[in-house]
Amino acid sequence: MLPRNLIDREIRFGAQNYAPLPVVLSHGRGAHLFDIEGRRYIDMMSAYSAASFGHLHPRLVAAMQRQLERLDIVSRAFHSDNLGAFYQDLASITGLDACLVMNSGAEAVETAIKAARRFGYDELAIPADKAEIIVAAGNFHGRTTTIVGFSDDPESRRGFGPFAPGFAAAPFGDAEAIEALIGRHTAAILVEPIQGEAGVIVPPHGYLASLRRICDRHGILLIFDEVQSGFGRTGRNFCFEHEDARPDGLIIGKALGGGLMPVSAFVARRSLMDVFSPGSHGSTFGGNPLAAAIGREAIALLRDENLAERSRVLGEVLLQALRAINHPAIVEVRGKGLWAGVELDVSMVKAKDVCLALMRRGVLAKETHESVLRLAPPLVIAEDDLMEAVAAFRAALDDCAAPSERYAG
Ligand code: PLP
Repeated sequence: MLPRNLIDREIRFGAQNYAPLPVVLSHGRGAHLFDIEGRRYIDMMSAYSAASFGHLHPRLVAAMQRQLERLDIVSRAFHSDNLGAFYQDLASITGLDACLVMNSGAEAVETAIKAARRFGYDELAIPADKAEIIVAAGNFHGRTTTIVGFSDDPESRRGFGPFAPGFAAAPFGDAEAIEALIGRHTAAILVEPIQGEAGVIVPPHGYLASLRRICDRHGILLIFDEVQSGFGRTGRNFCFEHEDARPDGLIIGKALGGGLMPVSAFVARRSLMDVFSPGSHGSTFGGNPLAAAIGREAIALLRDENLAERSRVLGEVLLQALRAINHPAIVEVRGKGLWAGVELDVSMVKAKDVCLALMRRGVLAKETHESVLRLAPPLVIAEDDLMEAVAAFRAALDDCAAPSERYAG
């Protein structure tokens, strides 16, 4: 079938809740994706970090296949023989004590919110239904109604209220502003250590450690959402490891599923996880044997292939190369590890147009908001591919400086 027909069918029978680039992918391997005509692209976004290990990593595929020959999904109504080991691996790599496995990132965020609120009532003597969680302006934690309720992105919220109360927002990167919001009903601070969707916003160094100290001082919980920043993306296994800032609760997802299926988790100190009792929370699919097998292999791969260090080293190469591009449309290059945001001057060029031009040049990336090109390639990407992508970006900026109708998607 022609690409246009395939796209039209998606549009005709699907919800229009995304605006994909006009490319129809049919296979992928490592850091490369291929469209239905066999054209190769360098993947510079890795499915928002879900494909951080690259596409179809042979070890992940083998682990999935091995599990598929033994046992599929049995629900948490019974024990299964690899769930305990998965928990232990997660506890070991995060330095925390106990886990609750879900599927999507948003579900793991909801799990963290429930845990924080119940901890607030049971352990911090917050009056019933008064618990408050402090979040950061510009946050992105997923798409459930509770979560979009504390987002400040108008299109995420419009028409979806009424929203749940119990959240207050402070500017991102400003620990003092967060502390000023803490009151007698505050149970927790919940932030992304680097804000991805907001445009790869890196807070000042020391912010995470300050939050840790503030939470200790006030006896409240620190929860980091590392759904996007975790698993080596920023040059450490978890972004909080850049500072002395181990949280009480950690939310992870995306790469944990190895790009093969949705696997997320809330990992926490024992006393925090112990707020959950049978019947208080759950998921039919969360922690299923297939998810556990893939998650265990993903954790092993992260360690065996030293991917966080690879991300740190290649990330420096990427940021340096991007900063070396001397183009008037670039306002700022920021990032950490293999995760970069390029802020563009929208009066000269729109990030979406750059993505279209990049696509024509064999590189797939995605803008966030109108002005930011976000780059987050698989951590296994070869340096040559990375440099090819940067060269394509340089050329794409020139393509867009002379706008052309042919790029209109
Ligand atoms: N939290 C963060 C920081 C994210 O970046 C995302 C998704 O981009 C989520 C949560 C939601 O994850 P999911 O789309 O798997 O629900």
